[in-house]
Amino acid sequence: MAVQQNRKTRSKRDMRRSHDALVAANPNECPNCGELKRPHHVCGACGWYDSREVVSMVEEVDLDDEAA
Ligand SMILES: [Zn+2]
Repeated sequence: MAVQQNRKTRSKRDMRRSHDALVAANPNECPNCGELKRPHHVCGACGWYDSREVVSMVEEVDLDDEAA
């Protein structure tokens, strides 16, 4: 394994980290339900993409009721 010979300066370390900042998300409004969604992704709330339903959403299942 490569082992560094000299310690990097604070300046060099901070120059390397200048690209590490997080970029804010750019959410769009879903045309079907109005929920905020990621662009080019299926809506997490209603399962629609490109004006049609691509993932069917089931109602929340009550596990206690299911077991009985
Ligand atoms: Zn939606």
